[in-house]
Amino acid sequence: MLRFILYTLLFWVIFSLFTSFFKKKNGNVVSEENLLEDEMIPCANCGAFFPFKTAVTFNFFSKEKKFCSKECMESFNNSGG
Ligand SMILES: [Zn+2]
Repeated sequence: MLRFILYTLLFWVIFSLFTSFFKKKNGNVVSEENLLEDEMIPCANCGAFFPFKTAVTFNFFSKEKKFCSKECMESFNNSGG
């Protein structure tokens, strides 16, 4: 009889851990921010579209410019804007 109670207890602990784990997984809502990071934006130098999260950012006269690569940023600076 004692063994049966122990098994029941063990089963209940595992079951409650299992359900709380799944509840945590479903509770995470991060989809909208990830979508914004994958947004395609045009390069300020060559005009090619590239993912926002890989952008090279440069502050040009207190205005933020986004470039597809460091090379593009440098050639933009060399040409004088
Ligand atoms: Zn570029």
